[in-house]
Amino acid sequence: MARLVLKFGGTSVADLARIRTVAEIVTQVWQEGHELAVVLSAMAGETNRLVTLARDAAPLYDVREYDTIVSTGEQVTVGLLAILLQNQGVPARSWLGWQLPLRTNLAHGNASIVEIDRESIEARFASERQVAVVAGFQGLASDSRITTLGRGGSDTSAVALAAALRAERCDIYTDVDGIYTTDPRIVPRARKLDAISHEEMLELASLGAKVLQTRSVSLAMRYGVPLRVVSTFDPQGPGTRVVPEEEI
Ligand code: ADP
Ligand code: ASP
Ligand code: MG
Repeated sequence: MARLVLKFGGTSVADLARIRTVAEIVTQVWQEGHELAVVLSAMAGETNRLVTLARDAAPLYDVREYDTIVSTGEQVTVGLLAILLQNQGVPARSWLGWQLPLRTNLAHGNASIVEIDRESIEARFASERQVAVVAGFQGLASDSRITTLGRGGSDTSAVALAAALRAERCDIYTDVDGIYTTDPRIVPRARKLDAISHEEMLELASLGAKVLQTRSVSLAMRYGVPLRVVSTFDPQGPGTRVVPEEEI
C-alpha cells in the first residue's frame, strides 16, 4: 500500500463524461489498496471564462474578488468527482482550500503556499479509507479570504499536498502521454522522455513548457517528491518520471 496524490488537469475534467473516466481511474487505483488524495483543475476553458467575467465587470478590479470568482471552477469539479466516486462505492469527500485549510501568503491572484493542514485528510484515510478530492489552484490567506495560486496552479497544489502528506509519489494526469524534449503540439517530432531530473524539468518549465507549473517543480525538487506525468486517456502508459538526478 502506498500513499499517492493524483492530479487531473482541465482537459481531463472537461465535462461529465471525462470526469467519469477520472472516477474510473481513481477507483482502480483505490482498489489496489492505496491511500489517495486527488487534486483537480476546473473544466477546460472555465477559468478563462471566469477571468474574462471579472475583467469585463470593471477594468480595475479588486484582486480579492477576482480570487473569489476564478476559484469557483474547481469547486464544481471536486463536487462532481466526489459524487461519481461515492456512486461507485468508493468513500470520497471534496475539500476546498479553506476547508483543509491550505494556507497561502497574501499575494492574491498569485499566492504562494505557506502550510497545509493534513490532519483531516489523514484521519479519514485511517478511519474510512476515504479518498480526499481536493480543489486545486486555491487556498486561504491570513485575511480569511480565498486566494488563487496563479494560472496552472493546480500542479503546485498537488505537489505541495504530496509533500505535506509525505506521499510516495505525485501522478500528474494530463492530455499528453509524458514530457517531451519540446512541446509536442508545436513540434510533432519532439521526443518523449522516460525520465527527467527535477533540475532539468525546472529549466524546461521556466522556458515555458506549461505541462508543469514552474513552482510545482521547485517544490518537488525542494521536498524530493517524485512525479510521474501520464495521459488520462492512456493511464496504463509509462509516462515520464520526474525524479532526483541520481534516480535516472
Ligand atoms: P493540464 O490542463 O492537464 O494542466 P496543460 O495544458 O496545463 O494541461 O499542460 C499540458 C500541455 O503542455 C500539453 O498539451 C502540451 O501542449 C504542453 N507542453 C508544453 N511543453 C511540453 C513538453 N515539453 N512536453 C509535454 N507537453 C508540453
Ligand atoms: N484552473 C486553473 C487554471 O486554469 C488552475 C489549473 O488548471 O492548474 O489556471
Ligand atoms: Mg496545467
